[in-house]
Amino acid sequence: MSFQNPVFIPGPTNMPEAIRQACYMPTIDHRSPMFGKILHPVLDGVRRVLKSETAKVFIFPSTGTGGWETALSNCLSAGDKVLAARNGMFSHRWIDMCQRHGLDVQVVETPWGDGLPASEYEAILKADTNHEIKVVLATHNETATGVKSDIAAVRAALDAANHPALFFVDGVSSIGSMDFRMDEWGVDVAVTGSQKGFMLPAGLAIVGFSEKAMKATETATLPRTFFDVQDMQKGYDANAFPYTPPVGLLRGLKLSLEMIEEEGLENVFLRHKRIATGVRHAVKAWGLELCASSPDVYSDSVSAIKTPEGFNATEIVTRAADQYGMAFGVGLGKVAGRVFRIGHLGMLTDAMMLSGLGVAEMVMVDLGLDVKLGSGVAAAQEFYRHGV
Ligand SMILES: *Cc1c(COP(=O)(O)O)cnc(C)c1O
Repeated sequence: MSFQNPVFIPGPTNMPEAIRQACYMPTIDHRSPMFGKILHPVLDGVRRVLKSETAKVFIFPSTGTGGWETALSNCLSAGDKVLAARNGMFSHRWIDMCQRHGLDVQVVETPWGDGLPASEYEAILKADTNHEIKVVLATHNETATGVKSDIAAVRAALDAANHPALFFVDGVSSIGSMDFRMDEWGVDVAVTGSQKGFMLPAGLAIVGFSEKAMKATETATLPRTFFDVQDMQKGYDANAFPYTPPVGLLRGLKLSLEMIEEEGLENVFLRHKRIATGVRHAVKAWGLELCASSPDVYSDSVSAIKTPEGFNATEIVTRAADQYGMAFGVGLGKVAGRVFRIGHLGMLTDAMMLSGLGVAEMVMVDLGLDVKLGSGVAAAQEFYRHGV
């Protein structure tokens, strides 16, 4: 196996060498001011990436999925009503987690490829005059379908209904890659992880809690131990965790945040947009279509590409790995076998992306698809030459 090629899966993402080195460090006392010098800048840096003045940031040794559980278990009680739309595998899994926690989920079934249905949310919230719905869930970027939803529109739906429900947003594949505005969008819990926009190995659940969400933790009764944010806060106040923190990953995250701020958060978003637009030009040149149903929902961190009827899209991923040592993402759930995914988030340049498009093209030609070698690469090159 060779590690020479970049990966084009939508997480874990490619790691800058400096971040890898930062994670690899000698043991320190994790209940000491030395640890505080890693921890506190990280909490502040994450808050800036979330675009929040007041959020409490918590980091757990876990993954994005643990972030979902942190949101639910700290703010809700058994039987609480949840409003969520299912438009892909990740929204599906969060809904499933709610149900396993004994929550009562009202699911809005949404075509896989569409964004979250803000107007349907609004109608449901307006009809909920007794305010039984305690939380609205939103997946900002559905990684399974390459669909970005309008979080401001979901916030507007809550406001139009004058509804007091909490608002939880899964930003695992958007935060640090695409614009996210926790305060402006009135997000109560923002969830992410270390291995996507932050360019780290998997291993951290990263969440931001609003004041309203912190207040909810005082009365919520779902059981929680490992993911208890109150315990975690007490730990932070003493430069520690309630248990042993993954110090190396936190040190890596500190550097990641410094790198993002050095490039400039808005420049990071523009870079993702530019690289993604080049990919979309390539897809068009191949004569293929995205799973995302319209340009307003195109994701800048992942593209799910539909293959012709009767063709098994997973073969593309298998052959790319076997023949060319390059990783793309398979289709998940309802779109398994019907799409393959190109992840384009994290540490990525135009040049790296061209290598991914070049290999995708070779694989499609190898498998007999009606794609011309060089066509997608040329379309992306033309865009990257001129794209800002
Ligand atoms: C990757 C991802 C998750 C799950 O994160 P894990 O770190 O694998 O637990 C959740 N939501 C979205 C949108 C994701 O892309």
